Amino acid sequence: MNRMKKYKIIDAHCHIYPDKIAQKASDATGKFYDISMFLDGKISTLLEHGGKAGIEHFVVQSVATTPMQVSSINNFIANSVAQSDGKFTGLGTLHPDSEDMHKDVDEILNLGLKGVKLHPDIQGFEIDDSRMIKIYELCEGRLPILMHTGDNRYDYSNPNRLMPVLQTFKNLTVIGAHFGGWSIWEEATEKLCKYENFYVDCSSSLYAITPKKAKKLIMKYGTNRVLFGTDYPMWDPEAEIERFMQINLTNSQRQDILYNNTAKLFDIK
Ligand SMILES: [Zn+2]
Repeated sequence: MNRMKKYKIIDAHCHIYPDKIAQKASDATGKFYDISMFLDGKISTLLEHGGKAGIEHFVVQSVATTPMQVSSINNFIANSVAQSDGKFTGLGTLHPDSEDMHKDVDEILNLGLKGVKLHPDIQGFEIDDSRMIKIYELCEGRLPILMHTGDNRYDYSNPNRLMPVLQTFKNLTVIGAHFGGWSIWEEATEKLCKYENFYVDCSSSLYAITPKKAKKLIMKYGTNRVLFGTDYPMWDPEAEIERFMQINLTNSQRQDILYNNTAKLFDIK
């Protein structure tokens, strides 16, 4: 791992849970994707394994599956950030069925969270669902959205549903997880790479595509619009960095993806 020392690294995509429910939550995600989870979703495990991989900062998040969970999850994320000794940047959660979206977005801002994580397939909404318009309006120009994108089994987060949103909300920054389309990597990239308000992360993808294909996707978006993320707790952070390092990029392109692009988007100092 010594050659990694020269790069500063932020993990832009980490799911965390309170210790009591971490294993269960992690297992549920593994079941949904039929991928066995490498780690357990606890904060201590993230710091231990991320630290071993040379990752110095983590963008942490959790997804509410009911409107009832929104405030408690946002407070959990904010508390985790407060206790992280400057190592965490937090993203909030929102739910399309919330009774008071203004209140939820204000709470996210007041808690000092830097963006919002949404997961269409797990939260059960289509990206262009009319219930989502309010969320996009409220987040535009204020809170970047890290959006799970792509699943060849469902239609919730299809790139076709994201395109009109990117077109309509031009000042809404969206980061599409998994290169904009998990399991439909190339098709998603073709459709989405032209939107300037769209970024992607490379999480949960490098296990399935060759370094050559990954490079092709990265170059389509441009190396300033790709963020490194591990989708903790799904993968071993060390192995993910090893996979990333197999992509033929220059040192400065790597540094942009591993750190600079994420630092800029979320104002991480
Ligand atoms: Zn995620």
